[in-house]
Order: sequence, then C-alpha cells, then structure tokens
Amino acid sequence: MRAWVGIGSNLGDRVSACAAAAVDLGALPGTRLLRQSSLYLTEPVGIAPCEWFVNAVAEIETDLAPEALLESLLAIEERLGRRRDAGPAPRTLDLDILDAGGEQRADPRLTLPHPRMHLRRFQLLPLAEIAPGWRHPRLGQTASELLGALGDGARVVRIARLEPAPGNGVRS
Ligand code: ADP
Ligand code: MG
Repeated sequence: MRAWVGIGSNLGDRVSACAAAAVDLGALPGTRLLRQSSLYLTEPVGIAPCEWFVNAVAEIETDLAPEALLESLLAIEERLGRRRDAGPAPRTLDLDILDAGGEQRADPRLTLPHPRMHLRRFQLLPLAEIAPGWRHPRLGQTASELLGALGDGARVVRIARLEPAPGNGVRS
C-alpha cells in the first residue's frame, strides 16, 4: 500500500525531529521511504500563538495495515519525545496519516483520509511537491487543486530540502 504521512514539529530542534522521523518511517517493518518533501516553515493555525512549525510529507510503500501504521507512528512520536497534552499544543513531533492506499474510514481513532488534510496548506503544499498525481480519495482533487480552493491564508515557506542519509535509497 502507498501511504503519505504528514510530519510536523514546533518544539525543540524541529528540523532534526522531522528528519529523524523520516528516517524512522523508512525503517519500519515492510516499509520503504520513497520520497520526502522539502521542509516548510509554517504559521500555526487553530492553536494559541507559539513557535512556527516545521512540516514535511513523506511518501512510503508499506506492507503494514493502516492500524499498524498508525501504531508505528505513535511509537515514533514517543521515541522522539512527544509529550501528549490535551488538545492542540506545541509538540516535538506530530505524525498524521494523510492517505493510506486511498482507503476511506470514519473511525475517530483512524479517519482516512485525514479529516483535515484537505484544508491544511502546511500538508497540501509538501504533498503537491512530491505527489503531483495524487488525488484526494473522497474529493477527487489533486493537492494543487485543493490548494487553489483554500481560504486559509496561513503562511507556509519552503526552507530546505531534507537531505537523505547516504545509501538509504531515498529519492526526493
Ligand atoms: P492532530 O494530529 O489532529 O493535531 P493528535 O496528533 O493529538 O491530533 O491526534 C489525535 C488522535 O487522532 C490520535 O490519537 C489518532 O488516533 C487520531 N487519528 C484519527 N485519524 C488519524 C490519522 N489519519 N492520522 C493520525 N491520527 C489520526
Ligand atoms: Mg497527529
């Protein structure tokens, strides 16, 4: 199954946390990291004023079922030091499944595609960078088309490419 994972951090060493998360994704069982977007510096939305986020999107090919993938993402968040506070709050690392094999689910523990990804410039812009042919499984629009329809004026600035570690087979 092909899946796209949103990576975000706004606490501590944000760039290192995002880079480490991408490496960890590629090291999951039965999983290959196919592409990773540039890093983007993004203005917080729906959250009290705080440090800007660093965001990226990774494309993976995985044998894991969506539930197992989500569990693995939570384990990576834990490993890289996320504290789970109630509600939207600064976090060292947030990993979201944006789309997993085009599946559609309404379960609040795992909603697919991610229920807010089509409204988030900070996830759509990196996704459009690495997956121009991707279409939202329910809405049928590409990431660029969804970006064009966004009312959200939050600022998103591309800051850097995520340099892959030598020899790990990443194309970016
Ligand atoms: P958010 O990512 O929306 O800021 P959290 O990271 O705190 O919020 O996630 C809260 C819960 O959202 C997780 O415990 C998870 O079970 C649930 N969830 C539902 N759908 C998804 C998804 N597609 N990707 C990641 N988490 C999801
Ligand atoms: Mg999350």
